[in-house]
Amino acid sequence: MGTKTHYDVIIIGGGVVGTAILRALSRLQLRTMLLEKAVEIGWGTTKANSGIVHAGFHSEPGLWKTKLSIAGNRMFDRLCDELDVPFWRNGLMMVARTQEEENILRHYYQQGLENGVTGMEMLDGEAAHHLEPNLAPEISLALRAPSGAVIAPFELAIAQAENAIANGAEVHTGLAVTDISHDEDRFIITTDDGDTWTATYLVNSAGLFADDLARICGLDVTPIIPRKGEEYLFDQRVSDLVTHTIFPVPTPTSKGILVIPTAEGNLMIGPTALELPHKNDLATTAQGFDEIFSFTQKLVPRLNRRDIIASFAGIRAGSPTGDFIFETSHGGKAVHLLGIESPGLTAAPAIAEHVCQMLAEAGLPQSEKPEFNPRRPKVIRFKELSDAQKEQVIRENPLYAHVVCRCETITEGEIVDAIHRGARTVDGVKFRTRAGMGRCQGGFCTPHVVKILARELGVSPLEITKRGNGSRLLVAGAKEFLKGGKVHD
Ligand SMILES: Cc1cc2nc3c(=O)[nH]c(=O)nc-3n(C[C@H](O)[C@H](O)[C@H](O)COP(=O)(O)OP(=O)(O)OC[C@H]3O[C@@H](n4cnc5c(N)ncnc54)[C@H](O)[C@@H]3O)c2cc1C
Repeated sequence: MGTKTHYDVIIIGGGVVGTAILRALSRLQLRTMLLEKAVEIGWGTTKANSGIVHAGFHSEPGLWKTKLSIAGNRMFDRLCDELDVPFWRNGLMMVARTQEEENILRHYYQQGLENGVTGMEMLDGEAAHHLEPNLAPEISLALRAPSGAVIAPFELAIAQAENAIANGAEVHTGLAVTDISHDEDRFIITTDDGDTWTATYLVNSAGLFADDLARICGLDVTPIIPRKGEEYLFDQRVSDLVTHTIFPVPTPTSKGILVIPTAEGNLMIGPTALELPHKNDLATTAQGFDEIFSFTQKLVPRLNRRDIIASFAGIRAGSPTGDFIFETSHGGKAVHLLGIESPGLTAAPAIAEHVCQMLAEAGLPQSEKPEFNPRRPKVIRFKELSDAQKEQVIRENPLYAHVVCRCETITEGEIVDAIHRGARTVDGVKFRTRAGMGRCQGGFCTPHVVKILARELGVSPLEITKRGNGSRLLVAGAKEFLKGGKVHD
C-alpha cells in the first residue's frame, strides 16, 4: 500500500464521457489522471450502444440533453478527424405509417426547429422511398435530418484516452474506486487494490455507478435507473439495405427500435428499453430479439434473421429527472455526472467542455499547454488502403502481409499495433481492430490473437483473457497445442 503522486484532477470512469473530459483537461498545464475499473477503456455503456450521433430533435428545448447533444453533434467532424476515428454523417430519418404517427412526426420537426437543428426536411412517402427504396411501402411521411451520424463509440473512447496520454495525462485501468474521502483540501481516493490516490479536484463519471460514488461523497442523490437495451448485428453483405439510420416515432421511454447502419459497415437493429432491478444483467433474450426483429421488419421488410451474426446488450444510466444531472460537492471541487443516458455519446464532447467550465469556476487553473497536440497518429486500417498503399505498408512491415481475421481482413500488423497502443485482452484487440467481429465471430482468429498477445506482452498464452477478471480462454494442457508461440502455420 502506498500513496501516489498528487494530481490536480482525478476522473473516475473511462467511458466516452470520462475520456472526453480527460482529453479536454490534457490541454491545460495540469496533472490529470483517470481511474477505470475494467481492464480496458470504454467497456461500460460506451461499449454497447447504438453508436448514433443524434441530430437533436428528440428532446425538449432547454434540457441539458438537448443543448449538449446539439453542441456535441457539431464537434464530431473535427474531433474524429483529429483522432482518426471512423465517422459517417449518413443522416437519419424518422418515419410515420399512420395519420397519428404523421402528427407525432410533425411535432418532432417543430421541436427540432425550436432546438436549432439545421438542415431538417419533411419528405412525403415518394421522396422517402426515393432515398431509401427498402423502406416499408406503408411509410407515408419522413423527417430527415442530414446532421445525424454514426461512430464507433468504443474507438472514440480509446482514441480520446490515447491522445490525452500523449499529452501527458495518465490512465490506470483495472482499478475500481471503493472509497472517497476529503481532507485538507484534497480528495483521497481508495482503489480495490488498497492503494490511495489524491487530487484537488474530482470528476465522477462512473456511468451507471456514479450515484453510488456521489453518495460516498455525501450527496443524497436519487438512484440511477438501469435501463437495458438489446441490439442485433447483421453480416456486412446486407449493409446496403439502408443508408440513413431509420427511426420510428418515439415511445415514452426511448427513441424506439431502429435500423442502424454502423460506422464500421454493418447493419444493426435495436435497442429495447427494459428497466432492470439491478445494474448487471447484460443478457440478450429470445423475447428481446422477437420484439426488435418484428418491429424493425415493419420498417424495412427485407431484413432477414438469417443474416444476424451477433447480439449484445448495454445498460443506460437512466436519469431520475429525464435529463443529464450535473451535481457538485465540496464547494464545486467534485463534479458528479448522473443520468448520462442517451444521447450521452452524442453529447460527450460538449459535456467535457461543460465540466471543464464547472471546474474552472471552482478555481481549477487554466494555463494552456503550448505543446498540446490534438492529433492522434493515424491508425493503419489495411483493408481500406489502395493496392499501392498496401504494398508500401507491407514493405515497411511484413506483419501487414499476414491476414489473421479473415472475415474482416485484419492483419497481424494491425493487431500488434493495437497491443502497442494498449490492448491487453482479446476483446481489447477486437474493439481496436475489429478482429473477431465478422461472420465467424472470432471462431478462426481467436487462437491466433491469443498467441500474438502472449508474444507481444511477454506472457504465457494461459494468462491471456477475453476481457480480464476471470475470463481466461485456455487451461493448462492447451499450452501443448500452442507450443512454439508461432503464428504462421
Ligand atoms: C442500448 C443503448 C443504446 C444507446 N444508444 C446511443 C446512441 O445511439 N447515441 C447516443 O448518443 N447515446 C446512446 N446511448 C447512451 C450512451 O451509450 C451513454 O450515454 C454513454 O455511453 C455514457 O458514457 P459514460 O462514459 O457516461 O458511461 P460508461 O461508458 O458506462 O463509462 C463509465 C465507466 O465508469 C467505470 N466505473 C464505474 N464504477 C467505477 C468505479 N467504482 N471505479 C472505477 N471505474 C468505475 C465503468 O467501468 C465504465 O467504464 C445508448 C445507451 C444504450 C445502453
